[in-house]
Amino acid sequence: MAGQEHLELMERYLVELAGKSVIEQLKLRRIRIIAMRKVSFCSPFLKIGKPLFEIWIKQDDSLEEQKMSFGHEICHTFDFNVKSVFHPFEERIHRLLGEDFYAKKDDYVWSEIEKEEEDFCEEFARRWLNQDNNEKGTEALIKALAAGKRVLRIK
Ligand SMILES: [Zn+2]
Repeated sequence: MAGQEHLELMERYLVELAGKSVIEQLKLRRIRIIAMRKVSFCSPFLKIGKPLFEIWIKQDDSLEEQKMSFGHEICHTFDFNVKSVFHPFEERIHRLLGEDFYAKKDDYVWSEIEKEEEDFCEEFARRWLNQDNNEKGTEALIKALAAGKRVLRIK
């Protein structure tokens, strides 16, 4: 799992989202659409140069898995806390590896970095669900999605 500096980064994300309803947090992270689909996914799209996000939750997963996916995909929106949405991958690797990234990046195995990123988001999701009323709030949203049109636009 993530080293100390990664945990500090994760803590910063959690603090940024603390004390708010799930809907308020989605707005803060510029998540405009949540949907229930065949796959789980976080995808950015652009509006006036700023990334907005769409999160898909896998319809065939259990409720527990769906809740974890929800937190996990919220975590991925932090990958785009950068000047440009066009280089998110490089930026997020920079985030994970620290300041010496540009000097060392050719020595890293990309699949391991990807795995580290996914582990980071899994750990974030666990902690995020335990924060405030996020687990209850997420469960309510997922149930509303499942019972309704499977798409929710956040105004
Ligand atoms: Zn992921």
